[in-house]
Amino acid sequence: MSEHFMGVDLGSTTAKAVIIGADAGMVAWRTVQMGAVSREGMRQAVDGALESAELRRADIGRVIGTGYGRRLVPGVDRTFTEITCHARGVAAACPGVRLVIDIGGQDSKAIAVDRDGFVEDFAMNDRCASGTGRFFEVLARALECEVDELAGLARSGSEDLEVSSMCATFAETEIVSLLAQGAEPPDIAASVHRAVAARTLGLVAQVGKRRPIVMTGGVAKNAAAVHALAEALESELIVPPHPQITGAYGAALLALETYEGAPPRRAADLERAEESAAAAFAPQSSPSCADCEVSDSTARSVVLGLPIPVRRP
Ligand code: ADP
Repeated sequence: MSEHFMGVDLGSTTAKAVIIGADAGMVAWRTVQMGAVSREGMRQAVDGALESAELRRADIGRVIGTGYGRRLVPGVDRTFTEITCHARGVAAACPGVRLVIDIGGQDSKAIAVDRDGFVEDFAMNDRCASGTGRFFEVLARALECEVDELAGLARSGSEDLEVSSMCATFAETEIVSLLAQGAEPPDIAASVHRAVAARTLGLVAQVGKRRPIVMTGGVAKNAAAVHALAEALESELIVPPHPQITGAYGAALLALETYEGAPPRRAADLERAEESAAAAFAPQSSPSCADCEVSDSTARSVVLGLPIPVRRP
């Protein structure tokens, strides 16, 4: 029986590697910021995690790859979608979770989890930058600050500004124009955080709101984004200690659980859930703006169980 297992999550903006022991406890992890999906970033994450665990690659019994670029990860024993891996990682980090909201650099997901931590249903936005980490990157660039400074800025905003364009292509222009009209950066930041939260309600509406709710992904490191989403959902949001590496942690757990000789953890349920998640990643046409048909107020009403507003022509 090998003593160590690894999960590698190659996302759209960051590469993460997590090493766990045979007791499923986390031994080491490394996150590497990349400009775009990069094998070099992934190599650095893997080497960094091995170095801090004082292990060699040969000491790792099994490696599972996940994330947007999971097919680019060489030397993995198997891949799982990030839907399956996030659900697994969150179920271990926050037992009893029923809904996972994962907001990464380029997509956002709502994952409904059953009582045993298996994926029941999920909805994903990977066609539009609104409601993703990319949108916050656009905001930070327009406000000339770092993405990790946004929460502090948003917290000091008080005025509710109308942010009409949730399209990342036009948002930067709109933010610059708000600045030109004299709007204060904290008010702009706070208003954009609220608008992104409202956008996320649409995803939650697709799978149905249930509690407890856990938020993961790099955007969960943004306290203002977490606060805005909790307010929009009218619910507490739990953030695990390392929200950006939940997918890699779940992959490492799956490496342990699917390791030859290890007891199978409801293998059939796992394969079924993975199959349906993998179908959602089937090659699709180019990015679409069809989701814009769903207004934020409609999404809010569905999630909160309010009457759905009638749109007048
Ligand atoms: P991916 O897996 O697609 O690479 P991540 O889950 O790593 O994405 O999330 C990346 C996003 O997280 C970035 O676009 C950024 O908006 C946000 N982010 C990352 N680090 C921080 C931080 N320290 N503070 C605020 N936001 C952050």
